[in-house]
Amino acid sequence: VAEVEFKTWTAGNILRQASFQGLRADKNPKEIILEKKSPKKEIKITHPDRIIYQAAGITKQEVVHYYEQMAPHMLPFVHDRPLSILRCQQTTEDSCYFQKHTHTTSLIGISSREVHNGEEYDSALSVEKPGEIFQLIQAGTVELHGWQASFSNIEKPDQIVFDLDPDSEKLWGRVIDTSYEIQSRLKSLGLQSFVKLTGGKGIHIHVPVQSRYTWNMIRAFSKGLMQIISESNPGYYTMNMQKKNRKGKIFLDYLRNGYGATAVIPYSLRARTQPTVAFPIAWKDLKKYSGPDEILLKNAIQIVKKRKDPWADYFRLKQRIAVLENYGNFLNSSDEAKNLFKR
Ligand code: ATP
Ligand code: MN
Repeated sequence: VAEVEFKTWTAGNILRQASFQGLRADKNPKEIILEKKSPKKEIKITHPDRIIYQAAGITKQEVVHYYEQMAPHMLPFVHDRPLSILRCQQTTEDSCYFQKHTHTTSLIGISSREVHNGEEYDSALSVEKPGEIFQLIQAGTVELHGWQASFSNIEKPDQIVFDLDPDSEKLWGRVIDTSYEIQSRLKSLGLQSFVKLTGGKGIHIHVPVQSRYTWNMIRAFSKGLMQIISESNPGYYTMNMQKKNRKGKIFLDYLRNGYGATAVIPYSLRARTQPTVAFPIAWKDLKKYSGPDEILLKNAIQIVKKRKDPWADYFRLKQRIAVLENYGNFLNSSDEAKNLFKR
């Protein structure tokens, strides 16, 4: 008996993308059977008319409908990825809670997987099928958030996310300029990046990378880049999380890139007053947007159906970070990380 990981069964009953995980001497071959797919059950949604977005009058039914339409676009971003969820009775702050672990509250029909970190064990949600997204929404989920690493290689991140948090809407123009500046700095290191309106106040810039660098290396790299930007104009930026230091500035958050930290999944709805969407866009279009909360539930689907996917290459790119290949192992401080960008 061997344990094999695989993606799917082919029509001819062959395993697709199979990989050998080891022999299972502990299993009796006689007990190994092919699990039959259970016949498709119609999953019923409870309280379809409950209003989730009070101000906009958007019901749970409409939220379900949105995610049904968006599921094909979201699945690649949740595949193999530990997830957290924001569950809300309504989308007012005090009726939402952020759920990171699955061992505390059981969610029916939703998979939970173990995450190891040395001696420590953790659990996180896992979603691979449209039906599982549906179950999450049925359980009151409005937002989906993901780690920057996959279950299969939890020690080595596979994406970097830079989170730009402006203190006020008035800074939107500066957020756009800063985003292009980050894009260009990454470009000069040979890295392609992708931009997403958060549906809230700011921007997320994603960089897909091969999962070959440790959390420490990725954190140093992302901190280094944010420091370079921040020090270029201390009046514009802060890297200090405290609210009082953010007045009139853009908070450059690299801390999304730590073990267990999350960023909102592309195409997730946001639990704001209006039903905004965390929306991936093309770099060339960023300057056309008047704010990061422009895309709403009702127009997101139409836009996505019509357009050419601006993030189409996201999962095809297997990017390496040359500066980390060369110096990464010697990174001991963020000052050294900063030097990565000066060489
Ligand atoms: P905005 O553009 O409004 O800042 P955002 O999604 O970037 O939207 P942040 O408040 O900057 O929101 O948070 C960044 C990320 O931190 C989120 O995308 C989410 O994954 C994670 N996060 C948010 N709230 C919590 C929470 N209560 N506990 C843990 N992680 C959270
Ligand atoms: Mn943010």
